[in-house]
Amino acid sequence: MILVSACLCGINTKYNGENNLCEKVLSLVKEGKALPLCPEQLGGLKTPRNPCEICGGTGKDVIDGKAAVMSSTGENCTSEFLKGAYETLKVAKACNIKEAILKSKSPSCGFGKIYDGSFSGNIIEGAGVTAELLSKNNIRIYGEDDFNKAFERK
Ligand code: SF4
Repeated sequence: MILVSACLCGINTKYNGENNLCEKVLSLVKEGKALPLCPEQLGGLKTPRNPCEICGGTGKDVIDGKAAVMSSTGENCTSEFLKGAYETLKVAKACNIKEAILKSKSPSCGFGKIYDGSFSGNIIEGAGVTAELLSKNNIRIYGEDDFNKAFERK
């Protein structure tokens, strides 16, 4: 089983109440090969919600208590993001998941590149909180753009 970001499957979990449908990811779900989850919803955030970015670091820094996840209106959402990451990890472990396809650049799901916390579209190297925690626990992460590379063999 592969863990996938729920918004990639056409589920309206995105902050603005919409989704990031990727037909190839959805097809994995339809074939019974993938499990969609949204860490931000699992952390207790409502949908729609204000967009959030990691301020002062990356997902690793958030896990280490050195950076915060803030909304565009200044609410500190760090505890919800951490809760969502650990709940996602709990599901991944229960389902013996070893691979995940996650939404690029998200403060939860991004892997490799994320927004820099300025809400201006700038990108920095790093992972979102959930992607970092899953990776730290030996789950291989792919962005949706890596889909063909990673999953054409499946
Ligand atoms: Fe999609 Fe992940 Fe954001 Fe949820 S937290 S809307 S699954 S990118």
